[in-house]
This record gives sequence, C-alpha cells and structure tokens, in this order.
Amino acid sequence: MQAVKLVSPGKMELQDIPVPEIGPDEILVKVAGAGLCHSDLHVLHMGEEWPFFGGTVGHEGAGWVEKVGSALEGYSTGDAVLISVVWACGHCRSCVEGRDNECEVNGSRMQFPTTPGLGPDGAMAEYMVVKARHLDKIGDLDPIQAAPLADAGVTPMHAINSARSRLTPGSTAVVIGIGGLGHLGLQILKATTGARIIALDTDDARLELARNLGADLVLKSDSAAAQRILDETNQYGADAVFDFVGVQPTVDLATAVIAPGGMLRFVGLGGGKFDYFVGVGQALPWGADVQLSYGGTRADQLQVIALAQQGKLGVEITKYPLADFQTAFDDLEAGRITGRAVLIP
Ligand code: NAD
Ligand code: ZN
Ligand code: ZN
Repeated sequence: MQAVKLVSPGKMELQDIPVPEIGPDEILVKVAGAGLCHSDLHVLHMGEEWPFFGGTVGHEGAGWVEKVGSALEGYSTGDAVLISVVWACGHCRSCVEGRDNECEVNGSRMQFPTTPGLGPDGAMAEYMVVKARHLDKIGDLDPIQAAPLADAGVTPMHAINSARSRLTPGSTAVVIGIGGLGHLGLQILKATTGARIIALDTDDARLELARNLGADLVLKSDSAAAQRILDETNQYGADAVFDFVGVQPTVDLATAVIAPGGMLRFVGLGGGKFDYFVGVGQALPWGADVQLSYGGTRADQLQVIALAQQGKLGVEITKYPLADFQTAFDDLEAGRITGRAVLIP
C-alpha cells in the first residue's frame, strides 16, 4: 500500500509498504480521508528538533472497517469510523475522570499524549491499524467529509466545552483564525451556545466563510480589532476568546480583549507569548482563566459526531489524491486552503 512517511527533518515521501497486520484488539481501517492540520506544518518546520521520524503522517483520519481483531465484537466490515486524535490508555486516573487528553500513561507532564501520525503510524495511507477503543462509528456520515472532525472538530469542541459556563446567552465569544479548526469552532459555538460570536481572520475568503457560517460580527484581525471588540462589549471585554492561531498579534489581541472572569483558550501553536505576573496591576483582568488546550476527549468526539449527524457541523473540504500530498501541503503553507485539505488514498 502507499503511505506518506516523514523520513527526515522537514521531508515527507510516498512509500510502498506492506499492508500492516492487526492484533486481537485492533482493527484494520481502510482510510477514506486524511486531513492536513497546520500542526503538520509546525512539525515540518521543527526540523531536527522533532523526535519521531519514519512514521506515517496524518492525525485526522476516518474510513471503513476492513478487518476485525479476533478478540473484538460489534464491528463489521464496511462500518464507517472516525479515528481519535488522542490515543489514551483508558485506565489511568485522568482517563477514568474523562480527561483522556491528559492521560498519565500515554503522555507525560510536558509532552502531548500519544497521537497517531505524530509518532505512531497515522492516516495518510491506504490502511491504518487502530485499537478498537480509539474508534467511534459514524453511521451514515461520509468518512471523507468527516475525517477532519477527528482533530479540527474535536479540538475546538474541547476548548469550547471547557469554557461553557461563560458561554451563556448574552455572552460574547471571540474566535480568532477561521481556518480548519476555527471554521468548525465557530459552528460549534453557533450550534451549542447562545453567545454572540465575533470572528476574526486576516484573510478575506476566511472572513466571507465566517459570515456564511453565521458569525454575528466579522472583523479583520488587525491593530484596530481589539478596540473594536472592547467597544462592542461596553469596554468590559469578551467572555471567552478562542485563539486558533497563537502568533504574537493574536495573543496580544486575545489578552487585550478578555473580560474579568473570562475564559481564554489558546489552541493555535504559533509561539506567541504574554506576561503573566502575580500582583496588582496584573497582566490579565481579575479572574481570567487561561488554558493551553490539547486535542479532546472521547466524549468531545461523540459530541462532534452527534452535531455532524444533526447537520449542524459541516466541514469545508478540498480533496487531493494521496499521491499529491506535497501539493496539498504547499497549498496549506501558502494559505490557499479555505476549510480543510483532505488526502484521498
Ligand atoms: P489553518 O492554517 O487551517 O488556519 C489558520 C487560520 O488562521 C487561517 O484562516 C489564517 O488566515 C488565520 N490567521 C493567520 N494569521 C492570523 C492572524 N494574525 N489573525 C487572525 N487569523 C489569522 O490552521 P489549523 O489547522 O486550523 O490550525 C490552527 C492552529 O491550531 C495551528 O497552530 C495548529 O498547529 C494548532 N492546532 C492545535 C491543536 C491543539 O491540540 N492545541 C490541534 C490542532 C491544531
Ligand atoms: Zn492537528
Ligand atoms: Zn490514561
């Protein structure tokens, strides 16, 4: 079968490799689609610093059950499935408490938890081996359309769920970056909260998409944006800010507009910084609650699937044949993708 491998710092290659064997608790998934995440670009840019080489890329995958491990029941060939982005142990205290994206066993204090395509072989291949507990059935959803839900849907769902107590009707939520994650985060906010949604991006096509997806106010992400958001909120600020970019200008914007007691969720990994000091004249309003959010849980994944099945969450996709992976990555890098690029084996 064909698979896209990360072979050396910044370099991927299409290789012909044997279809993998499965163990008793594993399923062989025939991949329908694999989404390209901006995090894949961060990995390519990390060069020598990235610790895992030789694995198949792709942490957003969906497909159909091809073969079922001998110890498993309840799966049939042809079932459409979504592959979890976090491969947690399922047994540790964090997992049992429903914080499986903070697994104590398949992760560590400062590392991210085990994630397919970022270590173990991922979805940019014709077939992928997955333990049954990392799969959810998606029924009639098209697995090509659904593939990006695994990360670009689940990750915003997790960030939004963690801020849900502030997202009451009458609140204001700010979404920065209407890319793969942001365009789904916006729809999740719209479908599951009564918040007024302010969407920002630097690119006009993304702003147009935000308008079409029902944002209440769409703003260019520029130096005037923070004051405009404060003006819109009686100078009090936004109840929740979701930064799906994380570069210095968006971190500055997010910290400039968060309200007292507001929920600040950094999801984008753009390397931005802000001062956080403890004392009077502090960097953030009193009570502001900050999280650097990683992926999501199985519960978040079930919620994302349910919303998609209800027709309330749709992924904008651009398809590329697997063999054209480099073109897809080049288009993502150049900002030519609106929504998500999906490789089709
Ligand atoms: P993407 O390339 O699809 O979208 C990025 C969007 O940000 C684009 O629409 C772009 O126009 C916009 N943008 C760029 N600069 C901006 C600015 N200054 N202000 C406003 N908008 C701006 O990327 P993606 O796949 O959605 O990923 C977004 C970020 O989230 C990346 O940094 C990625 O690594 C990260 N990510 C984190 C997690 C996690 O678990 N924390 C999971 C997935 C992705
Ligand atoms: Zn990702
Ligand atoms: Zn665990």
